[in-house]
Amino acid sequence: MAVVKERLMDALREHFGFDSFKGNQEKIINSILSGKDTFVIMPTGGGKSLCYQLPALMSPGCALIVSPLIALMKNQVDLVRGYSSKDNVAHFLNSTLSKAQIKKVRADLTAGKTKLLYVAPETLTKQENLDFFKELEISFIAVDEAHCISEWGHDFRPEYRRLKEMIDQISDNLPIIALTATATPKVQSDIVKNLALNKANIFISSFNRPNLYYEIRAKRKKEQTIKDIVKFIHLHKGKSGIIYTLNRKTTEELADMLVANGVKAVAYHAGLDPTTRAQRQDMFLHEDTEVIVATIAFGMGIDKPDVRFVIHYNIPKSLENYYQETGRAGRDGLEGHCICYYSHKDVQKLEHLMRDKSLSEREMGAQLINETVAYAESAVCRRRVILHYFGEHYETENCGQCDNCRNPKEKIEVKNRVVIMLKA
Ligand code: ADP
Ligand code: MG
Ligand code: ZN
Repeated sequence: MAVVKERLMDALREHFGFDSFKGNQEKIINSILSGKDTFVIMPTGGGKSLCYQLPALMSPGCALIVSPLIALMKNQVDLVRGYSSKDNVAHFLNSTLSKAQIKKVRADLTAGKTKLLYVAPETLTKQENLDFFKELEISFIAVDEAHCISEWGHDFRPEYRRLKEMIDQISDNLPIIALTATATPKVQSDIVKNLALNKANIFISSFNRPNLYYEIRAKRKKEQTIKDIVKFIHLHKGKSGIIYTLNRKTTEELADMLVANGVKAVAYHAGLDPTTRAQRQDMFLHEDTEVIVATIAFGMGIDKPDVRFVIHYNIPKSLENYYQETGRAGRDGLEGHCICYYSHKDVQKLEHLMRDKSLSEREMGAQLINETVAYAESAVCRRRVILHYFGEHYETENCGQCDNCRNPKEKIEVKNRVVIMLKA
């Protein structure tokens, strides 16, 4: 039952005020409205939320949206409410609510007023919640950030593994829509397996970010690298950028050195107290600082459209991470410069970090590092390597937007794949 186009467009305008769908949105919405399991792979900023929000608003009953970040749930609910005249159209149910608030949410659900309920995976582990949902009319389940299911993803959450079993307790045959911006073939097949999406309609959008320029620079002595970075920043005076480093200490050190060289910079990492963290994040968002030097603790859920450069002071632990972290540059579609400093020493540092992990974790980690190393040492188009990693074939001979395409190496050296030895 494909919904008539007119009706969809009317709903889009009425609920969100948009005049057209982006990318695959319309097809995805039709898939979920016709009761099919649906798997959506779309890069960050592509417009995934609308793919479940609109069908939820159009369907009888209430949709359950599983989302991993409690901190962002309120924000998402506020966004949906913002489009609507009725506050009870969307709610969230998680451990931050008081007894009275939970009662109110339940009352709205029972009265059939709520069309979207955001839940944490933990919410579904509670039997009393499952029993309550069983009595409701649930339109479908949306699993947002579905890569959390996979250990191969960049943000594994064990509770995500139990989702399918909990969903099945609510009702037999509830359609599931899974969404992620993480689409390595391994993560993809984990999601399909775990949520039993074998019969799902799959929608994969391109991961190409044509406005991002990719570049690898050899990392030399510390002083030299800092000098190089300072020079780059001065050439991009007044522009915002993120510098990622491997550990907390380096963020502080590097930020200090940048400040000493006339750059407005602050450090950001998970070891800072929450107030300082929020403060520095705000400084960056409001442009009181040009550069934030951060561990990967920084970035999730940050939507600053005009980040002009992302510099990796150390190589990232996987190409997936690299894609997500560089993806924070140029979200407005304008210029985004992505530089990664690469040295063998940093590869060893990454290995060293895994020393206390189990053998299988170390093997997995080593493979991810190998892929990053292959990227850094490759002489072919960086874009092609990144897209290949996501299972996407990039046709264009010369992308014009990476170091290897702008300055082709005269002789392509085919290097042996680097084998990383793991110390047991
Ligand atoms: P994702 O979850 O894929 O990262 P979001 O759902 O947060 O992306 O959407 C990114 C942005 O795109 C939001 O600001 C959203 O309002 C906007 N957006 C989504 N769909 C449309 C559309 N059809 N027309 C215009 N803007 C849209
Ligand atoms: Mg999203
Ligand atoms: Zn290229």
